[in-house]
Amino acid sequence: MNVAPFINTGIHTRKLGKVNVQTVTLAHGGGGKAMKDLIDDVFVAAFDNRVLAPLEDQARFDLNELAAHGDRLAFTTDSFVVDPIFFPGGDIGKLAVCGTVNDLAVGGATPLYLSCAVIIEEGLSVDVLRQVARSMATTAREAGVHIVTGDTKVVQRGACDKLFITTTGIGVIRKDRVLGVDNAKHGDVVLVNGLLGDHGAAILCARGDMELDTLIETDCACLHGLIEAILAAAPGIRFMRDATRGGLATVLNEIADASQVAIEIDEVSTPIREEVKAFCEILGLDPLYLANEGKIVVIAPPEQAGAALAAMRTHPLGVGACMIGRVGQGEAGRVTMRTVFGGRRIVDMLVGEQLPRIC
Ligand code: MG
Repeated sequence: MNVAPFINTGIHTRKLGKVNVQTVTLAHGGGGKAMKDLIDDVFVAAFDNRVLAPLEDQARFDLNELAAHGDRLAFTTDSFVVDPIFFPGGDIGKLAVCGTVNDLAVGGATPLYLSCAVIIEEGLSVDVLRQVARSMATTAREAGVHIVTGDTKVVQRGACDKLFITTTGIGVIRKDRVLGVDNAKHGDVVLVNGLLGDHGAAILCARGDMELDTLIETDCACLHGLIEAILAAAPGIRFMRDATRGGLATVLNEIADASQVAIEIDEVSTPIREEVKAFCEILGLDPLYLANEGKIVVIAPPEQAGAALAAMRTHPLGVGACMIGRVGQGEAGRVTMRTVFGGRRIVDMLVGEQLPRIC
């Protein structure tokens, strides 16, 4: 383990605490020295930034620095309880950073700062926790955001499952940007940035619910770079949302309802892997509702749809982008799909959850 023994807080240099046991115990959540050592060893060492390092009760920001990015603050929070905590292409830590970065970015915000609150089950390996924290740190660094405050709780065995993480994020929205779920208009075009359902499929495979010949990895990724490219090419974009839990179908229903429009997608144009389709069929799942962690639904005005699509396709996270449907004249609030057989079916909102603990 490569832990910097000292950290510069910006004011002074202090020695970092170190954990010398293998597993997390209730003492690590007790507020005393054991907890401070765990926070230092696992989180401060990994997140490594001057806002966090002094371990004040709050992160402090210069308002003028924030205001330089735009004129509105975006503020979001999300909890992550995915099971298992490691899966092909990612882990709960990467998910917790990407999920919150994306929730900021889809509103047109530049993501800047995150918090990280963890609930740890007694008995979790300290090395596992270090691995998750390092994954969060790497993802945050690549995304250009800083994890600047946090909280650590430990609960007795069985009171939670291994590790739950809550990340809260703040970002700043540029002055000219107005994106809204109620903005979709007749004639608008529906775009997605690639294959749908991979995250849900990867988690199901990791749980051993399904044996597949090909390994499907999560699509988990921070999308703010892609979103910036889309907004630069097509500033008239009406709305964007990441299609996480509940999948594409849920996002489309949210848009149709809020904008009081009909949306029709085309099954032939909707990109889903053959393997994912096949195993959904076996399990009785609908891939339109499978979770994604690196896919956005974009509602573009018709005159800018081409530019938006081209911008998506030139970005590494949008090479598989395509137009999947349109905002139409049908019954307001309704989502339909033109099937491969030429029929039409209603794509409703799910009443409950198709799969628990998917993110
Ligand atoms: Mg979201």
